[in-house]
Amino acid sequence: LVELTAVNKHFGALHVLKDINLTVDKGEVLVVIGPSGSGKSTLCRTINRLEPIDSGSITLDGTTLPEEGKALAKLRADVGMVFQSFNLFAHKSILDNVTLGPIKVRGLKPAEAKKQAMDLLERVGVANQATKLPAQLSGGQQQRVAIARALAMRPKVLLFDEPTSALDPEMVNEVLDVMIALAKEGMTMVVVTHEMGFARRAADRVVFMSDGEIIEQATPDNFFDHPKTDRAKDFLGKIL
Ligand code: ATP
Ligand code: MG
Repeated sequence: LVELTAVNKHFGALHVLKDINLTVDKGEVLVVIGPSGSGKSTLCRTINRLEPIDSGSITLDGTTLPEEGKALAKLRADVGMVFQSFNLFAHKSILDNVTLGPIKVRGLKPAEAKKQAMDLLERVGVANQATKLPAQLSGGQQQRVAIARALAMRPKVLLFDEPTSALDPEMVNEVLDVMIALAKEGMTMVVVTHEMGFARRAADRVVFMSDGEIIEQATPDNFFDHPKTDRAKDFLGKIL
């Protein structure tokens, strides 16, 4: 579904993505882990061209991601993203947060968008908060709204960049549970996370990055129980 071929990305002199080759199959849940600064967020951001790349190609469902213009906006709508910091529209109600994109970008009628939004908010357990503003919700609730908002665009793939790392510990599971349910429903997901319990339960494949390179890829059990490289062993030794 998503295919990166020989992708390179620099920030000035810093080579942050080094010849990345990666495919994500339809329905697959890919967990990306690695030390701080290894390029995980940059990798996520290149998948929907929030970051331009220097060389290589990225395709979504067989179509090469264009550099800019209308075609890019259309393709980007197929790639949902959930950030560490929720990024909800602060001055819009929860309901508006979930309906605006579908109305503007997908052309849904307001009534349709509202019905869909209420169904999604129900699914993530915050339907009773629909008329509130984001700041009136807990972090865990806001992140579940952010997931509902991403789903409302009916994306082909959902990217999560450390979706639980800004949350108080007691709110982490309510967000992970929503993600696990999505994974079970067959959503294609790329998840950057330090939540190894989630990786073990939900990931089809773990990708370990270090210094801008993919060092290892394996099933979660193989990766966590039998890491092959010193860099992976060293990383796991620090976090487990
Ligand atoms: P973390 O676990 O801390 O989130 P990460 O694996 O997500 O790290 P990235 O955010 O992708 O890492 O950053 C990779 C490298 O690129 C880092 O050295 C970072 O400082 C650098 N970098 C990221 N964004 C920019 C930018 N906009 N301009 C310059 N350098 C950047
Ligand atoms: Mg990051």
